[in-house]
Amino acid sequence: MIHQEPDCLFCRIVRGEIPASIVYRNDHVVAFRDITPITPQHVLIIPVRHIASLSDLTPEDEAAAGQILLAAGIVAEIIGIRESGYRLVFNTGKDALQSVFHIHGHLIGGNQMGWPPF
Ligand code: IMP
Repeated sequence: MIHQEPDCLFCRIVRGEIPASIVYRNDHVVAFRDITPITPQHVLIIPVRHIASLSDLTPEDEAAAGQILLAAGIVAEIIGIRESGYRLVFNTGKDALQSVFHIHGHLIGGNQMGWPPF
């Protein structure tokens, strides 16, 4: 049984209790459109397993973490930005303004970005 939290917003999206615009899912990850997009294409990639943040990853989560990275290219292809480019951003903790404590990679793209990103 994959660990889930009853009241976690993103666990609830995984379980279909809250509607989401899902663009891709497999046994390990779900990718859905961010409700407040910051770029023309903005998809969140989350593990099915509840893990609060990158800082909470343990060796037991190795497969879930790898599946998020593997999904990035697949999702980028689905939403049409694999060739033009994209970023995968994991806001982690207070200074990075993480607001939902279930790991999510922000896959952003669809326009020319700048660097540094802050
Ligand atoms: P964070 O600030 O890096 O934790 O990102 C949380 C993201 O979740 C934000 O970009 C929000 O817009 C997004 N978000 C919050 N609630 C929902 C929802 O119900 N559906 C889709 N995205 C959401």
